[in-house]
Amino acid sequence: MAIQRDSFYINGEWVKATSSETLEVTSSGTGELFATIPAGTVDEANSAVEAAAAAFSSWSNTSPKERGEFLTRISEKLAERSDEIALIIANEVGMPLMLSKGIQVGLPTIAFSDNAQRAAEYVWEERVGNSTILREPVGVVAAITPWNYPLHQIANKVAAALAAGCTVVLKPSEVAPINAFILADIIHEIGLPRGVFNLVSGLGPVVGEAIVAHPMTNMVSFTGSTRAGKRVMQIAAEMVKKVSLELGGKSANIILEDADLSKAVGDGVFKCYLNSGQTCSALTRMLVPRAKLAEVEDLAVAAAAGLAPADPISGASLLGPLVSAAQQKRVRDYISKGVSEGARLICGGVTPPEGLEEGYYVEPTIFSDVRTDMTIAQEEIFGPVLSIIPYDSEEEAIEIANDSIYGLAGGVWAGSDEKAFEVARKIRTGQVEINGGSWNVIAPFGGYKQSGIGRELGKYGFEEFLEVKSIQHT
Ligand code: NAD
Repeated sequence: MAIQRDSFYINGEWVKATSSETLEVTSSGTGELFATIPAGTVDEANSAVEAAAAAFSSWSNTSPKERGEFLTRISEKLAERSDEIALIIANEVGMPLMLSKGIQVGLPTIAFSDNAQRAAEYVWEERVGNSTILREPVGVVAAITPWNYPLHQIANKVAAALAAGCTVVLKPSEVAPINAFILADIIHEIGLPRGVFNLVSGLGPVVGEAIVAHPMTNMVSFTGSTRAGKRVMQIAAEMVKKVSLELGGKSANIILEDADLSKAVGDGVFKCYLNSGQTCSALTRMLVPRAKLAEVEDLAVAAAAGLAPADPISGASLLGPLVSAAQQKRVRDYISKGVSEGARLICGGVTPPEGLEEGYYVEPTIFSDVRTDMTIAQEEIFGPVLSIIPYDSEEEAIEIANDSIYGLAGGVWAGSDEKAFEVARKIRTGQVEINGGSWNVIAPFGGYKQSGIGRELGKYGFEEFLEVKSIQHT
C-alpha cells in the first residue's frame, strides 16, 4: 500500500492541499508506486513564506541555547526512527539499506545535534577597534533540496538556519520527499513554535520559484543541479537576496606514480559508485599515469565486479539501482555517448543487469582512454560510470583535474601524505581528500566555479545563515 500524504506543514499545522494534483514517488528497486504527495500551488507557497515571516521576530529573539534544545530533540527523534527512515530512503533513492541507515539518517541526525551545540557555544559578538560586531540571523530562508541524499541536504540547511535564528520554508525534492514529511512530523511533535519551520511539496518551477521570489524571503539556500541553481539565482537577484548554492560536480581523483595502486583504485571505484554514482562529489574521473593504465584497468574492473547491483532492501550489495526511470535513461544515454565519442568501454554498458530488469538498475560501467574533451569527461552523469583518463606528467594531471566548469571535490593518491597535500593545494575545488581521507561531517562542503556559492556543514555552514552588523562606539 503506497504512502499517501495530502497536506502541507504551514504555520504549525498540517493544512490540506487545495489542489487535487498529486505527484508520484516510485520505489527505485521495483519501479512500483511507493508514495503520493500533494503538488503545492503558488498560494500555498506564499502562505508558508508569510507564516515564516510572522514567526521570525520571536524565534530570532530566543536564546541560542533554547534553539539548541529544540534541535537536540529533533536529532533524538530522528535517531529513534532511524530504521523506518532508512527504509523509506532506500525505497525512494535506491541506496542499499545497510548504507542508508548510517549515511542517509546518521548524517542528518548529526547535523541537528552539531548545530544545537554550535548555537549554544557560538561567539555572537566581538569587539573590533571602536566597533561591536554582531552576528544576526538573515531572516526567512527558502530551502530547496534534491533527492540524492535527501534528508542530509535538508538537515544541512534546516538545522543550521534554525540554530542561527532564521525561520524556514522547505521545498523538498518531489522525487524523494517522504523523509521530509517525517521530519515535519517530528518537528510538530516536539512543539517547535508555529511558523518557524514550514514544508510545501511540489514542483520546482511552481513552489520553488514562488518561495524564492516572495518579497518576504531573505535568503535562498539551494542544492541541486547547476541548471536550476542558475534559475534560482536569477530570480533571487531581482531583490538582491542572499543565495547559497550547492550544485553539480565532476570530481577528479589523481593517482600519482608512487601511490599504492591497489588501494587507490579500489577506493576510487567505490567513491565513484557510492549511491549508484548519484553523489555530487563522486570521484568520477580517475587520472592515472599512462604507464600504469593497463594495471589500473585490471584493478578497476575487478573492483567493479565486486559491486554487482542488487535490490536495495533485500540485497547484500553495496550498490543499488538509480533513483528513477528518467535518471536511468539519462545515464544510459551518456554511456552510448561515451562509446560513440571513442572512449573504450572496459566493463558495464547499457544492458540492464541480469534479473534486475524491473527497477532502475545500471551495470557499474568503466570507460578507459577517456580524453578530457569528451562529453563523459566534462558533464555530470550522476550514475555508476567511471572515466579513466591517462596523463603523462604531474602538471598535466593537475591541468586535467582543473579542466572543468565544476569545482566541488577531488582526490589525490601519492606515496606520502606530504606529496598528496602539495598536489591537493593546486586543485581548484572546495574539498580534496588525500590518500583516501574520510568524509568529515563538520568540514565545510561546497564548490568553486559552477559548483556553487557558499558552504554547508560545521561552523562555515552555520555562518551562511548570519548577517554581520557593526556598531560603532564613540
Ligand atoms: P534539480 O536541480 O532538478 O532539483 C533540485 C531541487 O530544485 C528540487 O527540489 C527541484 O524541485 C527544485 N527545482 C527545480 N527547478 C527549479 C526552479 N526553476 N526553481 C526552483 N526550484 C527548482 O536537481 P536534482 O536532480 O534533484 O539533484 C541532482 C543534482 O543536484 C545534481 O546536479 C547534483 O550534483 C546536485 N547536488 C549537489 C550537491 C552539492 O552539495 N553540491 C549535493 C547533492 C546534489
